Amino acid sequence: MKMKLRQDVVVTAVTEAAKSPMLFRHGAVVIGKRGDIKGKGYNNYISAGRGIELGRRRSIHAERAALMKLSVEERRDVVVVAVRVGEGGDLREGAPCKGCQSFMKRCGVRVCVYMLEGEWREMYF
Ligand SMILES: [Zn+2]
Repeated sequence: MKMKLRQDVVVTAVTEAAKSPMLFRHGAVVIGKRGDIKGKGYNNYISAGRGIELGRRRSIHAERAALMKLSVEERRDVVVVAVRVGEGGDLREGAPCKGCQSFMKRCGVRVCVYMLEGEWREMYF
């Protein structure tokens, strides 16, 4: 990985992931050009909408949850750090899904950093 990942960013992402009520707990942090943390989020259940019974609960993924808190302009050229934690809050590997990849691309996200096979990886859009 070419980027330097600050420890406080990792801690924030892990803390977010630990808030998730779902089986696979993901967290995401959005970092601006100056290295500032602009947004954060975790995967969570959302309501299915009025009068709609889906039989299963829908969810919002961490990357999307973090980006949705920002304006359309604020989402451009950012770095998204996506993590997953285990039951004990320990860092686990997890790559962004196809849906989040396409959402990040549409947002104009520069790069997503995630952990796979024990090392941090970068996905450029
Ligand atoms: Zn996703």
